[in-house]
Amino acid sequence: MSTQKSQKAFEEAQSLIPGGVNSPVRAFKSVGGTPIFITEGQGAYLSDVDGNKYVDFVQSWGPLIFGHRDESIEAAVIEAVKHGLSFGAPTEAETELAKLVVSFFDSIDKVRFVSSGTEAVMSAIRLARGFTHRDDIVKFTGCYHGHSDALLVEAGSGAATFGNPSSPGVPADFTKHTLLAEYNNIESVKKCFADSSDIACVIIEPIAGNMGLVPADKVFLAELRKLCDENGALLIFDEVMSGFRASINGAESITGTSPDIVTLGKVIGGGMPVGAFGARAEIMAELSPDGPVYQAGTLSGNPVAMAAGLAALSKLKKSARVMKVLEERGQRLVQGMQSGAKELGITMQVDTRGSMFGFFFNDKPVKNFADACNSDAELFAKFHAGMLEEGFYFACSLYETGFISTAITDEMIENAIKASVKVLTRIKNG
Ligand code: PMP
Repeated sequence: MSTQKSQKAFEEAQSLIPGGVNSPVRAFKSVGGTPIFITEGQGAYLSDVDGNKYVDFVQSWGPLIFGHRDESIEAAVIEAVKHGLSFGAPTEAETELAKLVVSFFDSIDKVRFVSSGTEAVMSAIRLARGFTHRDDIVKFTGCYHGHSDALLVEAGSGAATFGNPSSPGVPADFTKHTLLAEYNNIESVKKCFADSSDIACVIIEPIAGNMGLVPADKVFLAELRKLCDENGALLIFDEVMSGFRASINGAESITGTSPDIVTLGKVIGGGMPVGAFGARAEIMAELSPDGPVYQAGTLSGNPVAMAAGLAALSKLKKSARVMKVLEERGQRLVQGMQSGAKELGITMQVDTRGSMFGFFFNDKPVKNFADACNSDAELFAKFHAGMLEEGFYFACSLYETGFISTAITDEMIENAIKASVKVLTRIKNG
């Protein structure tokens, strides 16, 4: 397989764009090698500038649940474009999409659209702070909530609960209200509440997809709900990734725990830049122009993006069984890879939630970020490169999640399993 043209494209991009990419993970840094440069997507496939074709298990990091160039989404976008790209004034499409989102989520009465997941989370946190009149927030190590300042934190050393900035450019003052807890460890959350009586909200990915796929235990989420209620804090489910991916009715429908605020992104835009946050009416009433909490966006509710989202969610609404089919395919994939690996003496941990799948080269179950970090990163990098050679495009970091789209067939899954055995055998034999 030649990647010569991708290499050349990458070199040129690096001379003009930092790292050659507009979002860091795309640069293949953690797996080495050259990112492939895409020319087009069609159904389950991606094509690159060298003419290679790959079965795509990334799906633009989640949005494309119906695969590339889904006919109804494409048609809706083309139709919308004919009426104008942006108005900065209300359209009925926004209300239609809001109606659809609300119909899927028990915990959402009202929703506001933004243009990215980062924006959705940043706004949801401001809303939680405004609603509770408190400043501190709790987040979990290994959960990613976009790149806004207060959420770019890493664990402080030793016993410190308050986080340190994880990026230069974020003043320590901006993260001093962010407390860190360990995923699936309720004692660490209790410690946060013991340390601060000013906690506005706890934010969590209920089905974490940013340390690999690590779902929260049901009991842990129920205890989290209880702790928030006892302490007057709001619970935010960040479902930018898991929304309409783990379940079409939100994580609340599969975990039994309801959040106060939900953040969404990816699938709800059908591939266009859309994010959203929603909550019960009482909380959303705090938001400007109804209430005092300010939040705005020139391109928020963009008509073309709304059209794509409407087409995607309408299609999901009509095909409720789709999630089950996708989950079965994901399970077949990871279990097939796992048993192939086992025969070679390699232990894998695998899991699925709806159309999300995850795997770790790890001897022990993965419950939190520390566990995820104990996975074999070197083996993952070799596996990633080998699968690419075989024509399968997996996420280029062991801390990411895989996605099944409706365009991926059983045959592609079987071929991916066979390829994984071939690749692992090759790695094993040096
Ligand atoms: N929250 C979660 C759970 C995410 O997975 C992401 C992005 N992967 C974000 C927020 C940020 O979304 P965006 O990249 O659209 O800003």
